[in-house]
Amino acid sequence: MYMQIDIITALLIAVMLGLIVYAIKSALDYSKKKKETIEQENKPMKIVSIVTCQQNDYTIEREFKEGDFIGKIDGTCPKCNSQMVITKIYSINIEMTQKSFKP
Ligand SMILES: [Zn+2]
Repeated sequence: MYMQIDIITALLIAVMLGLIVYAIKSALDYSKKKKETIEQENKPMKIVSIVTCQQNDYTIEREFKEGDFIGKIDGTCPKCNSQMVITKIYSINIEMTQKSFKP
């Protein structure tokens, strides 16, 4: 009888320890993940505007300027003198782009 209680107590302690270890582990994982997200947010970002000729024969990618919007006429095409229109505006991660440009 006494032995049985001992085994049950030992099992309970083992389960409790397992739960504590699991809780600590998941808490550490959570703070790690949180750190990673913060680091990602701090990475340098660049906003780029894509300007395309209405005749679709010329496209440039340039840095976003204040007042840029999709559909805005932005200069004339050096090839055919048609109007250039902003077709896309997006943000890129500078670090990632630098990596992808490496051979
Ligand atoms: Zn053109």
